[in-house]
Amino acid sequence: MRQAWTVLFEILRGAWITFRHFTVNMVFHTLRFFGVRTKRRGAVTIQYPEARKPLPPRHRSLHRLMKREGSGRPRCVACMLCATVCPSECITVEAVEDPDPDVQKAPSRFVIDLSRCCFCGFCVEACPEDALRMDTGVVEMAETDRGGLTYDLERLLR
Ligand code: SF4
Ligand code: SF4
Repeated sequence: MRQAWTVLFEILRGAWITFRHFTVNMVFHTLRFFGVRTKRRGAVTIQYPEARKPLPPRHRSLHRLMKREGSGRPRCVACMLCATVCPSECITVEAVEDPDPDVQKAPSRFVIDLSRCCFCGFCVEACPEDALRMDTGVVEMAETDRGGLTYDLERLLR
């Protein structure tokens, strides 16, 4: 009997929370409808994935490697600064000699393991060549296996 009362209490508590949110949001929407500006806005439901909330300009999303103008080769000079600064140790860079003497080094292998990345953006800040950015706006990176979260040179240059 006591368990039944507990269940009933929880149902009523949940209904009260729903009613409270509904009322508060309705008040804010009504005020806005009549032109009253309030600091807080009423909550809206975004019909994801058909509709998407715009990301702030500085949002850190999926990484990408920049290409050189003209040649299309990676702008990265394999200096390893991003790999050194990464707190999650999820960047691997291997260097080869670049045929261009002004560039000297290029990455033969550049891998980011996003399953370990904490999206801190340190790698982007550390890059002296502006070769690595997190401005793709891609936030859906779910995969069915961890290997799918390994982004190599080819994927990062896309
Ligand atoms: S965002 Fe942070 S954790 Fe992710 S790869 Fe860059 S430095 Fe490492
Ligand atoms: S992405 Fe930037 S910091 Fe990382 S190895 Fe290339 S040039 Fe250096």
